[in-house]
Amino acid sequence: MTKLLPKIKIHPVFWLVIAAGTLTGHLWGTVMAFVIVLIHELGHALTARLFGWNVLEIELLPFGGVAKIDERETHPFYQECLVLIAGPLQNVWLPLLSYALLNFSFWGMNEHNLFLMQNNALLLFNLLPIWPLDGGRLTHVLMEMVYPYKLAYRRALCFSAVALGVFGVISLLLYPFAINSWIIFSFILVAIYKEWRVIPLRFIRFLLALSSSKQRFVRLKKLSVPGEMLLTEVFAMYYKNADHHLRIIGEPKSELDGIGLVRDYFKGNCEAATIRECL
Ligand SMILES: [Zn+2]
Repeated sequence: MTKLLPKIKIHPVFWLVIAAGTLTGHLWGTVMAFVIVLIHELGHALTARLFGWNVLEIELLPFGGVAKIDERETHPFYQECLVLIAGPLQNVWLPLLSYALLNFSFWGMNEHNLFLMQNNALLLFNLLPIWPLDGGRLTHVLMEMVYPYKLAYRRALCFSAVALGVFGVISLLLYPFAINSWIIFSFILVAIYKEWRVIPLRFIRFLLALSSSKQRFVRLKKLSVPGEMLLTEVFAMYYKNADHHLRIIGEPKSELDGIGLVRDYFKGNCEAATIRECL
């Protein structure tokens, strides 16, 4: 069991929401939110463990949580999608649990309605296409299928920032004094900014994962590049979960194995060289 369940950590923002709930006499509601978020997050983590992923820990946030996962660069797309969907799926069966609890004296219609409201709010909010919410992460995976790794990352975060802006304006117009919304809004904005800063690091990890990969991918990308292009620029065109065949424009016999080129780069054989120099 301890192997299956990862470490669970509560983010300071969630402590803040718990404290606010307690002070304003909404303790029941806060406990419910905690349970709903925990079950949602366990859905992600247990599915990830079933696929053999390395789940470092779960961090609980007021609107979901983050399952911190190692080696994200190597997971197949279908597994990523299933792990992401496994969280919101828990919010689909949780209302049935609340109906069942109505048979007990401690669970009346008030508790039931509050539970349904919180559960549905979490479900809908989490599906917004804003990183790091599940909808935003799913958007990122879909972009990784279509665009090269680095570009997909940037586009997913830019898209998230715009969607967050729209969400912020709507919240401001509808509920200008909802402090919890503003805490969450600020948290997400900071999270997007922090993630943007680590893109170069993640990109290096992606290349390292690609260079140490022993499997051949089903996906094959054929890239035509000018001979004077720097290797780092060529690598920025690489896709996740794909093999790459490179061809230098104007040189018909210039086929290069993309992953082999990354290995050479890390061995120092082609550092800071143009792709033509690696022929
Ligand atoms: Zn989730």
